[in-house]
Amino acid sequence: MNKVRDLKNKDTLTYETSVAIFDDNSIGEYQGVANNSTVQTLPTSPSSDYISMAHVHNENATIKSYSVPSLGDLQWIARRYKDGYLNTSEFTAFLATADGTYFALTINNPTKLWKFFRYMDAGNFNITIQERIEASKKLKEVYKPILKKYYYDEQSALIQENAQGATNNEQQLRYFMQFLKEADIGITVFESNENFSTFTKLSIKGFDVKRSTTPCTL
Ligand SMILES: [Zn+2]
Repeated sequence: MNKVRDLKNKDTLTYETSVAIFDDNSIGEYQGVANNSTVQTLPTSPSSDYISMAHVHNENATIKSYSVPSLGDLQWIARRYKDGYLNTSEFTAFLATADGTYFALTINNPTKLWKFFRYMDAGNFNITIQERIEASKKLKEVYKPILKKYYYDEQSALIQENAQGATNNEQQLRYFMQFLKEADIGITVFESNENFSTFTKLSIKGFDVKRSTTPCTL
């Protein structure tokens, strides 16, 4: 956990840092590419299952990042689950951002998580033509509108990089929680302090982010 806690000091680096904890208790630390903010540096097929992955959304003069988890973050988790490299019942993902937000994510329903992303990955695996037709229909009618609204629309996506400021952080969190609900994606979100020692469970009710009154500690 100390390596995870250390991430808060790494949010101004030019590369993204991530830490992984595996089922056999081994720990790995990985660095992204300079001035590139994607997190594809963690092993995709490790020798032991993932129990945890933690990364930072760093920002500097050239890098912009989200104050909430990115779509790529969630897709990464879904793919590891699909490939059988995730201990889903224990898995926790941690995120520290340069906007001063800290989150922990757990999977409450892995089937729903993969159900959401499988259509985006439909071209990558062996499925029948009928399944492929169905997948592309679902992708077009259900998934793409949600993704466009929250993440992809270049002009007016609700979740935007570099949306700093306390008010914006709350607003971005609200959009992220709404996205999870609309996508029915099987992920539970906890807000954390910068030391990742206390966690408050979040939910969304109408337009408001609700915080559980009984925080848990680690
Ligand atoms: Zn990320």
